[in-house]
Amino acid sequence: MIIEVVTLFPAMVEQCASHSIIGRARESGALQLRVVDLRDYTHDRHRTADDAPYGGGAGMVMKVEPLDEAITDLRRKAGEPVRVILMSPQGRKLDQRLVEELAGESRLVLICGHYEGVDERVREHLVDDEISIGDYVLTGGELPALVLVDAVARYIPGVLGKAESAEEESFRDGLLEYPQYTRPEDYRGWRVPEVLLSGHHAMIARWRRRESLRRTLERRPDLLASARLTRDDLQMLEEMGADGALLEKLKAERG
Ligand code: SAM
Repeated sequence: MIIEVVTLFPAMVEQCASHSIIGRARESGALQLRVVDLRDYTHDRHRTADDAPYGGGAGMVMKVEPLDEAITDLRRKAGEPVRVILMSPQGRKLDQRLVEELAGESRLVLICGHYEGVDERVREHLVDDEISIGDYVLTGGELPALVLVDAVARYIPGVLGKAESAEEESFRDGLLEYPQYTRPEDYRGWRVPEVLLSGHHAMIARWRRRESLRRTLERRPDLLASARLTRDDLQMLEEMGADGALLEKLKAERG
């Protein structure tokens, strides 16, 4: 997969994306992450990419011309369809479903805003989507772009080793993940649940599913409505004291 990140701060993206799993994915070629300096698409002596807002007000707005040139150039060089995404707090909120959808693309271009944001004409005429990483405002789109790259890269074949598999992660089938433990068995009297030491694979799998359901019920009951639940799961939720109305709704949805 090829992801191009267009930014005024290339070193910031380059630095963060050179380590750990993403760094290795880039070295192996499984992920081709290219950092594009937006100032390379400016033509004045000061390499100006922003200007004061029409109508007045504080802060600067990123200009449309360099972004148009950059996006047009990247689309032309790609020679295949490219999904161009503006990182924006006003965009569609990133969740696991959207991550999986984006991982199905062969090529993404991520535009990082900065200052007061980008000229509205970029949003209107040049990008395909706007994506937000949550309901809060950051100083720039670099961290949001890196969040998106990290989440999407985990689905690219060859990026995660078997040991780091995304198979059982939180949100994978709409539920939060079960609790994890490692050695020692007993630390200051805080013990690992016996079942995990039993070596009984079926019992461990059942315990994990139950804990996954329990966590989701306690922390994010809103996720249950769209989770993939079996009859057995509903039974376990009932035993955990899930709200009757919620159970009726979930049963009705399963048909
Ligand atoms: N004035 C803009 C507004 O109110 O919508 C916010 C601009 S913000 C300070 C600067 C840039 O940071 C944005 O253009 C966007 O690229 C990025 N950004 C900030 N918060 C974000 C978020 N939650 N998700 C994605 N990008 C974000």
